[in-house]
Amino acid sequence: MNASTEHSLTAPAAAAPLLIRMHPRDNVAIVANDGGLAAGTAVDGLVLVDKVPQAHKVALADIAEGAEVRRYDVVIGRAIKAIPAGSWVHERLLKMPPARELDGLPIATVRPEPQPPLEGYTFEGYRNADGSVGTRNILAITQTVQCVAGVTDFAVRRIKAELLPRFPNVDDVVALEHTYGCGVAIDAPDAVIPIRTLRNISLNPNFGGEVMVVSLGCEKLQPERLLPPGSIPLVDERNVADVGASAESTLDVVCLQDDAHVGFMSMVDSILRQAEEHLERLNARRRETVPASELVVGVQCGGSDAFSGVTANPAVGFCTDLLVRAGATVMFSEVTEVRDGIDQLTSRATTPEVAAAMIREMAWYDAYLDKGRVDRSANTTPGNKKGGLSNIVEKAMGSIVKSGSAPISGVIAPGEKLTQKGLVYAATPASDFICGTLQLAAGMNLHVFTTGRGTPYGLAEVPVIKVATRADLARRWHDLMDVNAGTIATGEKTIAEVGWELFHLMLEVASGRRKTWAEHWKLHNALVLFNPAPVT
Ligand code: CA
Repeated sequence: MNASTEHSLTAPAAAAPLLIRMHPRDNVAIVANDGGLAAGTAVDGLVLVDKVPQAHKVALADIAEGAEVRRYDVVIGRAIKAIPAGSWVHERLLKMPPARELDGLPIATVRPEPQPPLEGYTFEGYRNADGSVGTRNILAITQTVQCVAGVTDFAVRRIKAELLPRFPNVDDVVALEHTYGCGVAIDAPDAVIPIRTLRNISLNPNFGGEVMVVSLGCEKLQPERLLPPGSIPLVDERNVADVGASAESTLDVVCLQDDAHVGFMSMVDSILRQAEEHLERLNARRRETVPASELVVGVQCGGSDAFSGVTANPAVGFCTDLLVRAGATVMFSEVTEVRDGIDQLTSRATTPEVAAAMIREMAWYDAYLDKGRVDRSANTTPGNKKGGLSNIVEKAMGSIVKSGSAPISGVIAPGEKLTQKGLVYAATPASDFICGTLQLAAGMNLHVFTTGRGTPYGLAEVPVIKVATRADLARRWHDLMDVNAGTIATGEKTIAEVGWELFHLMLEVASGRRKTWAEHWKLHNALVLFNPAPVT
C-alpha cells in the first residue's frame, strides 16, 4: 500500500483569516489561508492594505524606512521604504543583510537538556557484512565513466526482463549513471569530491556490499582509482579467499574495451553474466528485525515556500529529535540554506572541533561561490519568491529547523562517508539532486524531502518520503506527497503529531511494508555529482 494521504483528501479548513507569526518579537506574519487574503480583510486587529497571497508576509506594525524586518526573531532585511501596518511585505521592499562573519562565533555554548532515550522501536532491514543496514535490496552497477552509460542501460533493461523475475527478494537493478570519469582534471585537488562520492555511493547500505563495475578501459577514472584495494568490505567466502590477491581479483569489473569482447552483444552478455552472480547472493538475503538506531536519514527541502519553516520543516525537526533519541543518524545539509544561521549551528556543536569543522565547510563554500562571482543570495528561485520567501536569510531560517534541537555531533565534507551516529551536518550544495547524491554517498538508507511549491523528486537508490508544507499542495498532489504537514497551519494537528506520524511512517517504509509515492510511480531523478574541479 502507498503512504497515507487521507488527510490531504479532506476539504480545506474554514476560511477564517489566519496569520502565523513565528516569534513574539517578529513584526511580520504570513497569511495561512488558501488563495491569500483580500485588501480590506480584518485580521488580528489589522486591516490589510493590499491583497496578500498565501504564505506571503504582512506588516504587523508600521515599519519605518531602514528599520528591521524580523521573522523567526531574526532580521531578514531592512525596509527600503516606509511600510504601513497591514501592507504586503514582498521581496522588493527588503534589503538583505550581509552574511554573518565566520569569526567570533559562539562555539559549543548551548548545552541542551539531555533527552531520554527512545527505546523499543525497530524496523525490518537487511544487515550488511560491514554492520550497516539496508532498507532496500538493490543491485547497483557502478560505472567509471559516462561513456559506458548507454551499454549499461541496455544491459540493465535485459537484466530486469530476463534475470530479475528469478530473484524475487531483489527489489531492483540500478545503473549508477553519472557524467564524470573522463575529460576532467582528475588530479586537481577538488577532484577528490566527485571521486569519493562515486566510491561511497557504490558502498551504500542498500546495495548489500555487492559492488560491480562497468568500465570503458581508456578513461581517466580507472576502476582501481575509483575503488582501490581495501575500499570494498568483504562480503562472502569468495572475497575472503581473495585476500592478499590483486585488486583486480577482488573488484568485479566488466571492461568494454577488453579484447575478449567481439561485438556489442558480447559486452552485454558479460554484464548479464556478472550481474547474475551478484543477484544470486542478494536474493539469498532476508530482512531481520533491527533497532531504529540503524536508520540513516538524510533530510533536505526543495521547492520551498514560506510555509516550509512553519509546518513541514518543524515537523521534520521534531522527528529528527526522535531519531536522535532512538540512537539513529540524521544528516542535514544544504550549505547556502544554513549559512545565515551559522551562529545557531556552531553554538549547538558538541565540541569546539565540530564547530571548527562547520566553519571550515562554510568558509570553503563562501570561497567557492566567490570564485563564481556570486554569493549565497544566488540560492533563491522565482518559485521561492512566489511562495513568499523574500531572500536567503528568510529561507535559511525556515530550512535550518529540519535539524531539530539536538546537539550537532559531527560534520562531514562533500562526498565523505559517515562514521558516527547522531545529528551530523553533511556539507552539500542545496541543489536537490546534488544534495541527495552526496547524502547517498554518506550512507543514507532513508530520505525525507519537504516541499511547498511541489516537486515530484525521487531516487532509485533509496526511498524518498515527501512532506507537503501546505494542505492545498497535499490535496492537489495527493498521489505524490506522502505526508501532509499543512494540517499544522490549519490547526488540525500539532507539530509533534505530524513529527510522530513521520517517525512511524519511516519505520514502515524502511521495513518495506509501505512504498512511498515516488517508489510506487518509479520517479527517479539523476545522480548529479558535485565537481568543483575543472573539466578539460
Ligand atoms: Ca534542496
